[in-house]
Formats: sequence, structure tokens, C-alpha cells
Amino acid sequence: MKKHNFYAGPSILPAYTIENTAKGILDLDGIGLSVMEISHRSKEFMAIMEEAQSLISELLEVPQGYHILFLGGGASMQFCMVPYNLMQKKAAYLNTGSWASKALKEAALFGKAIEVASSKDRNFSYIPKGYELPADADYFHITTNNTIYGTEIREDLDVPMTLVADMSSDIFSRPMDVSKYGIIYGGAQKNLAPSGLAVIIIREDILGQVDRPIPTILDYRIHIKNGSMFNTPPVVPIFSALQTLRWLKDKGGIGAMEKINVEKAALLYDEIDRNPMFKCTVEDEADRSLMNICFLMTDEYQELEADFLAFASGRGMVGIKGHRSVGGFRASTYNALARESVVALIDTMKEFEKK
Ligand SMILES: *Cc1c(COP(=O)(O)O)cnc(C)c1O
Repeated sequence: MKKHNFYAGPSILPAYTIENTAKGILDLDGIGLSVMEISHRSKEFMAIMEEAQSLISELLEVPQGYHILFLGGGASMQFCMVPYNLMQKKAAYLNTGSWASKALKEAALFGKAIEVASSKDRNFSYIPKGYELPADADYFHITTNNTIYGTEIREDLDVPMTLVADMSSDIFSRPMDVSKYGIIYGGAQKNLAPSGLAVIIIREDILGQVDRPIPTILDYRIHIKNGSMFNTPPVVPIFSALQTLRWLKDKGGIGAMEKINVEKAALLYDEIDRNPMFKCTVEDEADRSLMNICFLMTDEYQELEADFLAFASGRGMVGIKGHRSVGGFRASTYNALARESVVALIDTMKEFEKK
């Protein structure tokens, strides 16, 4: 039976990525060695790193003055690297979920971390609006897509200070204006590559403005200077990321990807809104994520939740159980998830309704 992979992370990757990663692990381009057993400074790996960086630059139209880093430690490492490198006294954080809260908690170790707004009062089911930013904050940190709660900030905000964004679960899902951001970072395992890797797009001129000593391995300037090769980078995830980036380019780039993502999400949200057995956890359509679609059983069918999970699993749906802090269901519709899988889930919901 075909599996429809809706896991939130690690999550579905293009078959192209999996196949070519497997090939490169066995024999990289016919050189008779695995990508895992050659020096990261070999000409073969340097070419992989350079192509991956230049494809990101091309796909996201990264302007001059920015650098692209591939570092270990995932997105969570960035929760501490950001304040370490940027926070002199004060930083502003928008609290839109568990990941945002974790980022805020790390920042509080380095200075005054101001929570400018939070949607915790309604279990993070919306994006706060109309908040004020302290003018003297060194930067403003947002989480563009809240993987657990299914909300998303889909516009590039204009703010009068350095904007830092955790884009772990929506990077490469839509075109964006990189010039609005000081730092964009993301763990690779939602839309790009195996876990453990973080991609960081950083504007160099925001660095070097804090007084504290920064441990070498946590200093962005060191990684920029060394082209992400200060220490041995996660070579297999980077090789894998390159495959996904090639796939993205071949599919027509990020703009083409966004069109498909908008369409997939609209199909599923329409069914959730139509089907009397289900309801969406995020009411305001403007806040609904295109990547993680969270829904519940309506009150009168509440006791059928486990039945629906079993029914869906019998039809090849994998990973649709909601996160424990929201309950219900979550269908993650990342770039690599085919429209066909979304249609299969919709058919499953319709058939369950008939039953
Ligand atoms: C998954 C996720 C993280 C954590 O990523 P790690 O690589 O496990 O550190 C952080 N932020 C968001 C928005 C995520 O979805």
C-alpha cells in the first residue's frame, strides 16, 4: 500500500533526494568512495558545499552582503547563537508557540528578552497583531511557521530593527524578501534534508556589535570566515540538501512550489471546513499555515478520534496524529508532499463521514 507521509519532522523529502543521497553514500559520482568517507576539504566536497550555497542564493534571491551557512546543532542551537552574537542588552520576541518560547527562554540568559506579544491565551491558535516593539531592542525575533500549532506569518514584516526569523518549517515554501531580515535560520528536517543541520542566511553587517566574548564555535563571524568549515560540517545532510535544492530548481523554483503549496493547503482546509466531523484549530484564515494543517474532531464526534486515526492509518496515512499539546490531527504538507497525498487524505475524511 502506498504510504502518505504527513509527519511534521523529520518529514517527507523528495524521492529524488533520498535516491541520490543513497547513491552518493554508496559511491559519489563514480569516484569509488562514499560521500561520508572523503575529506570535507576535498575538491569533491567543496564543490557540493559551493553548489548548495549558490542554489540557495539563486532560489531565494539572496542579496549582496549576506552569507549562507550550514552548521550542526539544528535550529535549537540558533536559539542561543542568535542572542550570543546579537544581543547587547535587549531583544524583542514574538511568542507564537513552543519553539518561539524556547528561543525566548535562551535569549533571557543573555539580557532582557521582551515578549512583545503572545498567543498563549488561546493555545497559540492565532498570530498576535498590533503589538509594539521597544525602540531600543537589538533585534526582533519571530517564528514564521509554528509547526506544532499550524499558524504562519506569510508576509515579510517591516520592522525598524534587525529582524531574525526561525523559518525551520516554511523555508523554501514561498518566495521571500531576504533583504527584510538580518538572520533567517532553520533546521533542515522539515523541507530540506536529514536532521541535525541548520541553514543560516545572515547579513554580515549586523555582527560584531556585542561586548561579550563569544566561544569560537558559536561565533557567526568565524563560520563566515571559514565558509562553514571551521569544524567538520554535517557532510551527509549537506549533500542531501543539495539534492533537494536541485529538485526545487528543476520544479521551477520557489514560486512554482508556492503555487502548489497554496493549492494543496486550500484543498485540505476546504474539506476540514466543509466536513461536519472536523474543525480547524486556527480560525482566522490569514493565520493558517500552508505547511502544518491542524484540525480536531468536532465536539459531537469527539469520541471518534481514535477510530479516525485507525481508519486513516488503514488507508496508508502516516503521521497525522496531532502534537500532544494540541491534540486531534496534523497533516504536514511540505514541498515534497504530492497533491495526490492530500487528495487521498481528503477522500479518507469523506469516506469516514459516510461511514
Ligand atoms: C522543528 C523546529 C525547531 C527545532 O529544530 P531542531 O533541528 O530539532 O533543533 C525549531 N523551530 C521550529 C519552528 C521547528 O519547526
